[in-house]
Amino acid sequence: MRVEITIAMRDELVRRASASRDEICGLLLGQGGIVAQLLPTGNVAAEPAIRFEIDPVALIAAHRAARGGGPAVIGHFHSHPSGVARPSLRDAADAAPDGAIWLIVAGAEVSAWQASPNGALHGRFDPLALLVSGCAGPGDSPQGEIATPPR
Ligand SMILES: [Zn+2]
Repeated sequence: MRVEITIAMRDELVRRASASRDEICGLLLGQGGIVAQLLPTGNVAAEPAIRFEIDPVALIAAHRAARGGGPAVIGHFHSHPSGVARPSLRDAADAAPDGAIWLIVAGAEVSAWQASPNGALHGRFDPLALLVSGCAGPGDSPQGEIATPPR
């Protein structure tokens, strides 16, 4: 599977992450691998500088909205303020193998992963190609760049 976000979304993730000493987090709304909307939420973890926990109130509201015909919750994003853009061992311990998309932001880098039962990384995550699409209008062929995997 491939994950697609817009340049504006990528820039917003990088801007929010760089402006916070704590891990930022939020939900990805959309369909399939196409992110239609970023929904930033509070990070309610006890130690937000080193871990994240999506605000459960926002999470419940998003699922309720999806059931009411709104966009589906297809995953979430969080940042690693002083780390690399790949899931940590803590992320792997916290992740349910539910197929959710994980976007991880570190510095100017955003990477995409899928939580799976037998992932290639930490036994829990498989890397996904991340397409950062341009602002192509209807009828235009999609333009974009495939992000290089984290070094
Ligand atoms: Zn993490």
